[in-house]
Amino acid sequence: MSKEQMFHYDRGTTNGRVTLVGAGPGAVDLLTIRGQRALAQADVVVYDDLANAALLEFCPPEAKRIYVGKRAGIHHVAQETTCRILIEEARQGRHVVRLKGGDPLVFGRGGEEIAALVAEDIPCEVVPGVTAAIAAGASIGVPLTHREHASAVVFVTGHECAGKRSAQTAVDWAALAKTGATLCIYMGVRRLPEISASLQAGGLPGATPVAVVANATLPTQSLHVTNLATAPFLSETLKGLPALIIVGEVVRWAELRQTMATLQLAG
Ligand code: SAH
Repeated sequence: MSKEQMFHYDRGTTNGRVTLVGAGPGAVDLLTIRGQRALAQADVVVYDDLANAALLEFCPPEAKRIYVGKRAGIHHVAQETTCRILIEEARQGRHVVRLKGGDPLVFGRGGEEIAALVAEDIPCEVVPGVTAAIAAGASIGVPLTHREHASAVVFVTGHECAGKRSAQTAVDWAALAKTGATLCIYMGVRRLPEISASLQAGGLPGATPVAVVANATLPTQSLHVTNLATAPFLSETLKGLPALIIVGEVVRWAELRQTMATLQLAG
């Protein structure tokens, strides 16, 4: 398959194809216009938990909807099954939209889906989405980079499948602690105690500011501002919620914003 085929679905083939669409972090209006257009042209939409189900309303009413959600620890549908569904539906000559929370290629196993499709010669395209880290920062007024405080941002997973651990994929928290980068930790709530301990062992002070944003951009959004030493208690409070952990000096902007909001309320 040529690169052209893969990346320009508008020049489309009459055969089936798959569009991996980033659903954004939650709020419906954070879907891209390109993503909305792909949904409007879908014959089939394959979606999971983090994609806001309200986005399905952009699909034609007759579009087939297939749920392949998985919650932490409980896999409803194996990744191989999801790939097989994409392939089988596309082989019927359909336009399949694979709707994935945030950006499809950030901790979304989108790479595995592309590989499976490419192996079957099925054209596919990727429509990026607003990833949770970017959305979380924006929604609490925290700049992930700042000229004086952070010259780098790291997107890192706090959850690694035991079977996947290898020298290449294991997260070196001690090394990250020394980068001075803002750390945006996905899927980290359950392991906050270990992550906090590892970062401190790596040299980050316990007083390093930490923000945890759950359900970012949704009406249920919550924000907890704490520090590395005390962050572990949030593990229990936020159990089961999609939450993004931001570690670094830039988190002080969240406090600034909260103070401003309080002042506004008081005024
Ligand atoms: N592809 C997604 C990430 C999938 S991994 C993206 O680009 O955003 C799932 C993790 O993303 C969750 O455990 C949580 O850490 C984070 N996440 C997704 N949506 C979120 C939201 N609305 N608020 C906070 N964190 C979110």
